[in-house]
Amino acid sequence: MKTEFLKALQKIMGSERVTVDQTNRHLYCRDMMTGSLLELKAGHQPHLPDIICWPENVREISQVLKTANRFRIPVIPFGGGSGVSGGTLPLHGGLIIDLKRMNRIEKIDGPFLKGIPHYRATAQSGILGEHLESQLNRKGFTLGHFPSSILCATLGGYLAARSAGQLSSRYGKIEDMVEAIEAVLPSGQIISFDGRIRDYKSALPRDLLVGTEGTLGIITRARLKIYPKAPAARYRGISFNQIPHALTAIREIMQSGLRPSVIRLYDPLDTLLLQFGYETGNRTFPKKIGKLLGPLKNNLFHLLIRNPLLPQKIFSLIPSDALLILGFEGDANLIEEQEKKAIEICNHQLAKDEGEGPGRHWLKHRYSVSFKMPDLIEKGCFVDTIEVAATWDKLLTLYHKVRATLEKYCLVLAHFSHAYPEGCSIYFTVVGQTASREKDYETYQTIWNRAMENCLEAGGTISHHHGIGLLKSKWMPRELGEGLKFFQAMKKKLDPNGIMNPGKMGL
Ligand SMILES: Cc1cc2nc3c(=O)[nH]c(=O)nc-3n(C[C@H](O)[C@H](O)[C@H](O)COP(=O)(O)OP(=O)(O)OC[C@H]3O[C@@H](n4cnc5c(N)ncnc54)[C@H](O)[C@@H]3O)c2cc1C
Repeated sequence: MKTEFLKALQKIMGSERVTVDQTNRHLYCRDMMTGSLLELKAGHQPHLPDIICWPENVREISQVLKTANRFRIPVIPFGGGSGVSGGTLPLHGGLIIDLKRMNRIEKIDGPFLKGIPHYRATAQSGILGEHLESQLNRKGFTLGHFPSSILCATLGGYLAARSAGQLSSRYGKIEDMVEAIEAVLPSGQIISFDGRIRDYKSALPRDLLVGTEGTLGIITRARLKIYPKAPAARYRGISFNQIPHALTAIREIMQSGLRPSVIRLYDPLDTLLLQFGYETGNRTFPKKIGKLLGPLKNNLFHLLIRNPLLPQKIFSLIPSDALLILGFEGDANLIEEQEKKAIEICNHQLAKDEGEGPGRHWLKHRYSVSFKMPDLIEKGCFVDTIEVAATWDKLLTLYHKVRATLEKYCLVLAHFSHAYPEGCSIYFTVVGQTASREKDYETYQTIWNRAMENCLEAGGTISHHHGIGLLKSKWMPRELGEGLKFFQAMKKKLDPNGIMNPGKMGL
C-alpha cells in the first residue's frame, strides 16, 4: 500500500519533490524539543517518517490530503521544525509535508480607513519569519512579530503554535495579528479566506485552526495586520532588588494603559546570564571572573551544574538585583512621555534606573541566548525552557513553587515576559547534567513532570507560546477540563480517520 501511496504522490507532485531516502527520513525525525535530542543521545531509536514531500501550492496540498485520507496515512505538517514541544514528531511514521516552498508574500495593501493606518499583508504559510519581516521592512512595514526563532520558524508554524514575539506587549501574539487564513482540511477541502467550515457553519478557519498544531488541517496562507515601521525606539534597563516590587511595577504599567514594546524582567540568576558580555561599568564583573579562572572554567562549570543546589544556595546569599528591560516604539515625543510615566511607576517600587546601556545590550543580543542551547547539549549538559503563564494573583506563587521544586535537579533561571493587564508568562530556563545520557533523559522527564504539576496546582496555564505538541499532551485533560471533549468532537468530525498529526495536543 505504501508503494501505491508513494506512486500517487509522485503523480501529484512529480518525483523530485517526494522522497523516501534515509538521510531525509532522519533529518525530519525530530524538531527542537530537547527531549528527542536527549533520547537520541541516550541511544533510543527515533520515529522516522516514511515519506517527505514539498508541495508548491494549495491544490497540491489538497490532492495530497485527499490521497492520504484514502490510504489512511498519518500526515504531519512541517514548517521550520523549530518547535520545542515535539509537534512534528512522526510518532506513527507517515508523510511529512514540508511547506517551505510556499514562501511568498503575495500582496501588501492598505491603508483601508481614512486617518487610521490599517495595512495588511497576505503571505504563504511556508515563508520564514525573518524573510517575511525583512521583505516587509524593505517596503517600510513591520509585522511586529519577533520570536527568538525568527531565523528558523515559518509563518504557518507561528500560527499553528500560537507564537509570541519579543515585542508582544505592543503588537500582540500572532493570533492578534492574523485577520484570515486559508486552510486545507483532511478531506482535501480548501477553505479560502472568508469561507466557512461546512461542519461548523458559523466558524471561520482562523478561529478553528489557529493554535491547533496541524491536528485539524494545514494552514496555507494568511492575511496579517502590518504596521508602518516605528520612527523611534527607546530601550533601557531598570533594576529592582525585590522581584515582587518589580512585578507590581509591571502590572501597574500594563494596567495604566501604557503599551511598552518590551517589558521583561530577568530574575537575579537570569540577570547575571544576561549581563555576560557587558562592556561598560561594573558589568564586566562576570567576564573578569571568566578570565581569572582560565582553563579551570570548564571543570568548575560542570562541577556546579552537577550539584545545582550548591551554586543556587551561594547565589541566594549574594544580594543581587533583577533587571527589567523596558522598551517603547513609536512617535519620538510620545514614547519619551510614555517612558517617563513608566519610570515613575517603577520608582514607586524602589527601582534604580540603569540607563540605556542594558536596553541596547539586550536589543543587540536578543536572539543570541536561545542559539547557545545546542552548545550546552554538546558539552554534555541538558538544557530546556519551560514557559507557563498565570494571572497576577497567582504569578509569584507559581514562580516560587516551580523554582523550589526544580532547583534540586538543575540550575533554574527565569524571566517574566509577555505581560498583559491580566497577567504574565514566566519563562524558566533549566540547565543540568548527570552521570550519563540515560540519566539526563530521566532527570529531564522528572523536571517536566514536576514543573507541569506545580504549574497546574498553582492555577497557571501550561503553555503560553510554545504549544502543546507531544511534550505537554498528557496534561491536556487537566489544562482544558471539559473543553477537551469539544476539541475531541471537532477532531472526529473534521478528521474522522485521524490522519492529521496523530498523538499531539492530547488527541
Ligand atoms: C532557539 C529557539 C527560540 C524560540 N523562541 C521562540 C519565541 O521567542 N517565541 C515563540 O513563540 N516560540 C519560540 N520558539 C518555538 C518555535 O520557534 C515556535 O513554536 C514556532 O512557532 C514554530 O514554527 P515552525 O515553523 O518551526 O513550526 P514547526 O516546528 O515546523 O511546527 C510546529 C507545529 O505546527 C505545525 N505546523 C507547522 N506548519 C503548519 C501549517 N502550515 N499548518 C498547520 N500546522 C502546521 C506542526 O505540525 C507542529 O505541530 C523557539 C524555538 C527555538 C528553537
